[in-house]
Amino acid sequence: FLKGKTALVTGSTSGIGLAYAKALAAEGAQVMINGFGDADAIEKERAGLEATSSKALYDGADMTKPDEVAAMVKRCHDELGGPDIVIANAGIQHVEPIESFPIDKWNQIIAINLTSAFLLLRASIPYFKEKKWGRFISTASAHSLVASPFKSAYVTAKHGIAGLTKTAALELATFGTTVNCISPGYVWTPLVENQIPDTMKARNLTRDQVINDVLLDGQPTKQFVTAEQVAALAVFLCRDEAAQITGSNYSIDGGWTAE
Ligand code: NAD
Repeated sequence: FLKGKTALVTGSTSGIGLAYAKALAAEGAQVMINGFGDADAIEKERAGLEATSSKALYDGADMTKPDEVAAMVKRCHDELGGPDIVIANAGIQHVEPIESFPIDKWNQIIAINLTSAFLLLRASIPYFKEKKWGRFISTASAHSLVASPFKSAYVTAKHGIAGLTKTAALELATFGTTVNCISPGYVWTPLVENQIPDTMKARNLTRDQVINDVLLDGQPTKQFVTAEQVAALAVFLCRDEAAQITGSNYSIDGGWTAE
């Protein structure tokens, strides 16, 4: 149902972002993927997406660089006629108590996890208004609703995404454009896997203890969310049936924030 539409997904060389790109391409959307990683691996994913839909491009814009974010959105317009759907998904994590939390890590997390969504909106809104149709989705987190210790920058950025989502939804309400965020609990991706060593150190726990007693402790289903489940929700938000859903924050967290 997305034939003729173009989706731009940041942080889509891995994890949840890649799952969004695949799910949107499977519905016929052209996609522009973004993120870091091995050039050959990225090219393989791009070619796979292009084989699924009609066209797929890769743009290596760094979400900490405002000029590169704006240039990527413009390129999406010039080369693909988009963007119709934008997913602000790039994100990083750092786990450390506030008193020793490095200031440059704080700034980097706020830039990638929060400010990049503002920059994407800023650059995409003229196209949404022109088309009188748009879908802007951010990957927030259960941490947009509740906190965990040692994740100050991440929790702050994700709460910010929830507020930005509401504001942008109001500004775009009469332009056929919806703005929502999705708040997953723990999804098994490199982002989660990579924070295990730091959490082991910060809490003095073994790897198994971190997985079962920290990560899945708060998730009543005792299961990780899958990236494909998150992507399926984003695909639904792109449907015409979802045209009146805007300014919403969707939990998909195995019951975490119900407690
Ligand atoms: P991931 O590490 O697998 O993917 C992160 C992506 O962001 C990668 O493609 C990476 O290259 C890209 N990226 C990092 N820095 C970038 C930069 N400066 N510019 C451009 N791209 C950059 O992680 P993931 O788990 O798939 O996370 C995706 C999003 O989902 C993040 O916003 C994360 O906070 C959110 N999230 C993840 C979970 C989880 O449990 N995995 C839960 C809730 C929310």
